[in-house]
Amino acid sequence: MDFNYLADLLFPNLTETTEDIEKRFPPRNLPEGAKVTRFAPSPTGFVHFGGLFPSMVAERLAHQSGGVFYLRIEDTDAKREVEGAAEGLIKTLSTYGINFDEGAILDESGKVADHGIYGPYKQSMRGPIYQAFAKKLISEGKAYPCFTTEEELDELQQVNKKEEIKNTNWQEEAEARRAKMLAGRNFTIEEVEEHLKAGHPFVVRILAMGDPEKKTKFTDLVKGSLEIPENDEDFVLLKSDGIPTYHFAHAIDDHFMGTTHVIRGEEWLPSLAKHIQLFSYLGFKLPKYMHIAQIMRLDENGNKKKLSKRDMGANMDDYTRMGYSPEAVCEYVMTLLNSNYEEWHAQNADKPYTAFPFNIKKMSVSGCLFDFGKLNDVSKNIVSRMSADEVYEKVVDWAQKFDKEFAVELTSDEDFAKKILAIGRGGKKPRKDITTWVDVKPYMGFFYDKYFAMIDSYTEGFKKDDIKKTLVSFLETYDANDEMNVWFDKIKKIAEELGFASDMKAYKANPAAYKGNVADISSFIRVAVTGKQNAPDLYTVMQIIGEQKTRARIENAIKAL
Ligand code: GLU
Repeated sequence: MDFNYLADLLFPNLTETTEDIEKRFPPRNLPEGAKVTRFAPSPTGFVHFGGLFPSMVAERLAHQSGGVFYLRIEDTDAKREVEGAAEGLIKTLSTYGINFDEGAILDESGKVADHGIYGPYKQSMRGPIYQAFAKKLISEGKAYPCFTTEEELDELQQVNKKEEIKNTNWQEEAEARRAKMLAGRNFTIEEVEEHLKAGHPFVVRILAMGDPEKKTKFTDLVKGSLEIPENDEDFVLLKSDGIPTYHFAHAIDDHFMGTTHVIRGEEWLPSLAKHIQLFSYLGFKLPKYMHIAQIMRLDENGNKKKLSKRDMGANMDDYTRMGYSPEAVCEYVMTLLNSNYEEWHAQNADKPYTAFPFNIKKMSVSGCLFDFGKLNDVSKNIVSRMSADEVYEKVVDWAQKFDKEFAVELTSDEDFAKKILAIGRGGKKPRKDITTWVDVKPYMGFFYDKYFAMIDSYTEGFKKDDIKKTLVSFLETYDANDEMNVWFDKIKKIAEELGFASDMKAYKANPAAYKGNVADISSFIRVAVTGKQNAPDLYTVMQIIGEQKTRARIENAIKAL
């Protein structure tokens, strides 16, 4: 058969040849060792936690090596496309510090537009490029048109399914289906001409010459040494609308965009045989591959399950609503990605995660376990090391979106809010009351009359009368200008007067001799002023809320007793 004639017959109107395309996309001129990586999402919805993973790896590897990190939108499946998803995912990723050097990124007006010379970066805009290469493969006898319609193939698949259910030998059916497909290889030019004249659509299939018995050694940078069987499936390269399948677009785009490392989910591992074959047919150098393990979670019965789209924690936008700072999420992801991250972090607590030398060899080969408990630990530590100003800014930002009323309180007196947030910060052992921004209101709300409530009761086992007397005596001697020691001496004095131990050692030596101790006396005052048993240092609390409010709260507490 004259393959050149066949190729022209099928693609008569292409203006660019593959040589033209090669010239249009010169190799990148980057220093030795610089990695070119990409994130290549399909714009079908939100960013999944499992998508943040590979994109963070890709970003780190590119930027750590002085390379390029770009965004390619894989919109070849129009049916699954969601309006605005591309814009949304660029914004979400940027919240997590994942910014692209190149690709289909946002312009000033917030619309997706191409930045860079290797575009278009949206696959739907690259039709003629894929078609030129499909034509080339046909002209070399490495691909062929197939006029079997989708419906006919679907029908075959249905038959297979039914057979499977009937528990007959469905493998035989699969063989038959394959035979039917292979029969598509035997066609004449006349038949093709007839089909075209009748306006029949066709797909382009690869002519797979592989023998699955034969295996090629392959090294995946995460999974290690693998043996990949040769591909013998005539898979589709171009669909009937001229749009490529993932496989074909992957080979062509990653070649021309100069990707050095393909970082993607391990669900693509079974397709690797196809990709190896395709790169070889096209005469392209195979990039390096990293197949990232899926994220797992524990179900109610403690079994590992894939973190699915609907699971809590899957949608990256949820973390914003839940009040996690992106730094915490990123750091948590790093702990999952590199086993030595935590050790490094312990020694470099003041450095951002981007200073960590990310190492491919330290990546987990099997699935990482997603765990809110661990994320919360990481988050608590991060927030505890932030300055009061930083926390204030982030909380206000969060509250303006999710708790407007609280935002109004916070911003009505910035100094007041910052003084509260400064409690217990800056030292070696900072307080860790805040995990997410949602925690801030319950933690500091009592400083505001609007949110003050008697949440806890007084410590049990004490007489109401003693509690009342404590509060009354406190009010009698309280002077907001007292130094902390003087303030505490006054509380000790109250303790002594009421038969409570003012000295803890003495109390421990003979507890039966006392009604209680000075800590109990303090707790009565604490509950009256804060409404809680656990609150930041009481002296500081009184200093911040001021004499008037302190007195008013204690007076109210006395009345209520
Ligand atoms: N569009 C593919 C996906 O979303 C990309 C896989 C890849 O990175 O090559 O799964």
